[in-house]
Amino acid sequence: MEENEGFILVSRDCEFPENTHQAVSHDYLSDIDNSIDSLRHQLWPLNKFIHENPELAFKEHKTHDALTSFMRLQKGWQVTPSTYGMETAWVAVYDSGKTGPVVSFNVEMDALPDLGHACGHNLIATASLAAGLATAEMIRRHDLPGKVLLFGTPGEEGVRGGKIRLLEAGAYEGVDICLISHPGILHNSPMVRTTAFARLEVEYFGRAAHAANSPWLGVNALDALIIGYNAVSVLRQQTMPSDVIGMNITNGGARPNIIHAYAAGTCVIRAATSARLTDLEKKVSACFRAGAEATGARVEIKTIQGYADHVPNRVLAASYTKYWNALPDVPDPRIPPADQFTWVQASTDQGNVSYTMPSVNASFAIPPGLKKGQPHSPDFEEASGTEGAFGMALRVGKALAGTAVDVLGTKGLIEEVREQWRRDMDAVKGLEMDTGEVECVDDAYIG
Ligand SMILES: [Zn+2]
Ligand SMILES: [Zn+2]
Repeated sequence: MEENEGFILVSRDCEFPENTHQAVSHDYLSDIDNSIDSLRHQLWPLNKFIHENPELAFKEHKTHDALTSFMRLQKGWQVTPSTYGMETAWVAVYDSGKTGPVVSFNVEMDALPDLGHACGHNLIATASLAAGLATAEMIRRHDLPGKVLLFGTPGEEGVRGGKIRLLEAGAYEGVDICLISHPGILHNSPMVRTTAFARLEVEYFGRAAHAANSPWLGVNALDALIIGYNAVSVLRQQTMPSDVIGMNITNGGARPNIIHAYAAGTCVIRAATSARLTDLEKKVSACFRAGAEATGARVEIKTIQGYADHVPNRVLAASYTKYWNALPDVPDPRIPPADQFTWVQASTDQGNVSYTMPSVNASFAIPPGLKKGQPHSPDFEEASGTEGAFGMALRVGKALAGTAVDVLGTKGLIEEVREQWRRDMDAVKGLEMDTGEVECVDDAYIG
């Protein structure tokens, strides 16, 4: 969606579990590398087609058709188009026929109004498709158990994202892990945290009166709103560094010579975790109620839930990093040390997925445009259509495939991943995220 800064958030006493599967299987590595390289000539035209045919959230019809047609040509895949109540959602499944972990990749499709693919979702689609196909190829070659799923996920650029609708429809039931990536220009990192956000709509109902001859008969709804607005401004002194509160007035009363019967505003709040967001929402709502109390106006507050924060799984991230670094020509910037989160002040519905199962939402840096424009700029739209950006998406696809193959092929790894997820969920739900040391860097990207 928006926002222009990011942070690296350093956890102070971060217990990084010893990944017991550090060594790269060179068999796996070179097979994945070759498998994705051999798809290059098929994936490039598909990537280009998506980029050149930008479609808005939930209207990704051409992209849906191109991707499902492409998947139908792939050996062993079962493809379901237009599914789970959304015309542009789709699922493709590759089943080894042997019981084992179920790994999934989300395929982003939507573009932005007037800006085309300025969020680079064509590259996300390419990376996930490459990863899914390579994982299926590895199942065949190495006789691995389990299943691979590709989810065509519509409408990330909105409030009720496609992944939330898929979650509600039960699409991810039985799925063990979910992997995705997102392009930007500054980070290469599988340990990405994003913000939780919600939108509050506030309305005050007062009583109109003439402001000169009988103001005492009125109840001023605009005064109530201004008191609420100012109370929010005062609250900002004691919010956490990662809290963001933005507000506007959508109705400031009728005319200056009357006591206003009605006034309204909108407020967008962001926080490091969904639990913190709930606390912040209570505080902001109290500010709005103060306006009503002071003036006698009636207040109505409607909360529209946005996206949950993204919680990355560090066991999966360790696999991703291992493959990323073992592939030739490791790009700059390097993946940060394992105990650092890359914190992005933006939101994505992959966050909601991460509250349901272990997830990685890997950030990757593409060659920037001339103006070094961030996502959601015309410059980034151009940058996301280049062959350089496509090449990075393929590299991401290799590291994502490696991560999935590790889960399928390493005995006990899925249990380790789940155990880490449970610990992470306890931590974020109990507000134990360490937000003490925040180091600022510039970046922006997601939803
Ligand atoms: Zn995006
Ligand atoms: Zn976006």
